[in-house]
Amino acid sequence: MPTTQTLLEEAGHKTQDSEFFNTVPPGYQRGKHKYVAVLGTVMSGLGKGIFSSSLAKLLKDKALAIAPIKMEGYLNIDSGTLNPYRHGEVFVLDDGLETDMDLGTYERLLDQDLTRDNYTTSGQVFQRVLDKERHGGYLGRDVQMIPHVTGEVKRQLRELAMKQNADVVFIEVGGTVGDYENGFYIEALRQLAFEEGENSVAFVALTYVIEPPALGEQKSKAAQLGLKKLMEAGIQPHMIAVRCQNPVTLSACEKIAMFSNVPMRRVFSMHDRESIYTIPDAMRRAGLDREILTMLNLHSRVDQSHEDDARAQWQGYVKKLKAKPTHEVKIGITGKYASLRDAYASIDKALEHCAAHLGAQINTDWIDTTKLEPEDVPDAVKGFDAIIVPGGFGHRGTESKIATVRYCRERGTPYLGICLGFQMAVIEFARHVCGLEHAASTEFDKDTDQPVISILPEQKKIEGLGGNMRLGGQDVALEPGSLAAFLYGNQTLVRQRFRHRFEVDPSYIDTLTAHGLIFSGRHPKQPIMQVLELPTSVHPYFIGSQFHPELTSRPLRPSPLFMGLVSAAIRHAQPGLAADVPAMRWLHHAKDAVTA
Ligand code: GLN
Repeated sequence: MPTTQTLLEEAGHKTQDSEFFNTVPPGYQRGKHKYVAVLGTVMSGLGKGIFSSSLAKLLKDKALAIAPIKMEGYLNIDSGTLNPYRHGEVFVLDDGLETDMDLGTYERLLDQDLTRDNYTTSGQVFQRVLDKERHGGYLGRDVQMIPHVTGEVKRQLRELAMKQNADVVFIEVGGTVGDYENGFYIEALRQLAFEEGENSVAFVALTYVIEPPALGEQKSKAAQLGLKKLMEAGIQPHMIAVRCQNPVTLSACEKIAMFSNVPMRRVFSMHDRESIYTIPDAMRRAGLDREILTMLNLHSRVDQSHEDDARAQWQGYVKKLKAKPTHEVKIGITGKYASLRDAYASIDKALEHCAAHLGAQINTDWIDTTKLEPEDVPDAVKGFDAIIVPGGFGHRGTESKIATVRYCRERGTPYLGICLGFQMAVIEFARHVCGLEHAASTEFDKDTDQPVISILPEQKKIEGLGGNMRLGGQDVALEPGSLAAFLYGNQTLVRQRFRHRFEVDPSYIDTLTAHGLIFSGRHPKQPIMQVLELPTSVHPYFIGSQFHPELTSRPLRPSPLFMGLVSAAIRHAQPGLAADVPAMRWLHHAKDAVTA
């Protein structure tokens, strides 16, 4: 009886006649790379990404190399053209890929930069298959969902494992089992498990137990049906995470275990918790990490001392997070998508990171500038300890944003302008300090005679939506001695992530700086302005960045620009604060305050 391995190897030589379409890249070592597939049942939006990244974090803490991948069912090639109102924010990776906000969850929890290899959509998979077909890559065969499309998925997973030298690839399939869009991913994973053999692929299913208020008890039928659907697809789950508002009762867990052949020790109650940051520890206490190690035969790759250190650090963070806050601040965020929190998920997270480190309770409030006349702005923003004008596109609400910046600049309210918020600050300063009354951005006013913000010169030539943005990680040279350099711990070169088309028109730089605006962060070689600030002698905290600092804020490495803002907000709320509280230490010593 030939083993799967030999069948596959043979298939590699005669792809033409075997049913085993070979998708094993050259040099691939079977057994070296393991896979955890996380699939959703019942409904989407249950926190699959949070579960998956928490489990991945537990393994990473043990010094295992992790490569997560989000496999989206939709046909879009990337997330760049998705409406944040429908789909949450667009998260930009260092290599410039515009992805789903879930990739942000992985980056934050794993404290790891991801690449375009860690994300795919059905559109990308089909595009690759069709390209290959046009280039004669299928040797005259009819191209089919199985084996060719599923084969493409397996090839991609194995290549990811090799490229990122992963001990474990974490595969999160978007949507739920039973959707049309993701069916071929699920079939590909079933095949992958068959081909890789025992102890190579662990299937984890997320499900949902309903607690109808009228009944006052937990009902597991939908969960059972969802899991049954998974088993109908030929996949036996190894572990089940049960989402529920309250801790899942023993009886509900037993029913789920019984109907899905999963031992009770691998059925985990993932009920709502005060903070998602406590989930990794809860999973560890339930023994899920050890279960995965056993299922995938990975115990020998664990580095215990690495795990002890990582855990101590994480627990330190969780402890700060749970501690009773010593300050309370109110931060206003202007935004068109104010009614949907997910549209600004990373900003929310960046503030959350700072809150823990600085012992602050941050109450955020959204200011919908599209519904506000500029003259009504002072009343709307006067109660805040700090204001953020975040990124955005289009002209709606911009005049009220400019009025918001003016209020902050003139009244000494701590201000952080991000991307569009940076540009708004330049326009406001140009109009009201430099006397350039018509100052505008050509994004909103094509014919202005004072285009202080205009389209990037090198981008003017490139046409087409999505194709002409300056995207991804870029170096930012910081001016020694500036507030920005100080916040970044006196570094002179930092790397940050961008997503914009417009920038400060270089011909206005001299006028703006002559009137007191400082461009403290610039592109190292080109005249692209990337950070602006006002001297601390003039304003307690006024800073703007053409990049998005929220995208690289991590629980243990919060973004310096946000740390500065929250510290300044605390000082705004409690002017007489002693010098030794973290917020004051942060403002005066910057970098060492986080670790202290
Ligand atoms: N709309 C502005 C630009 O394209 C700002 C973009 C943003 O805030 N991300 O430059």
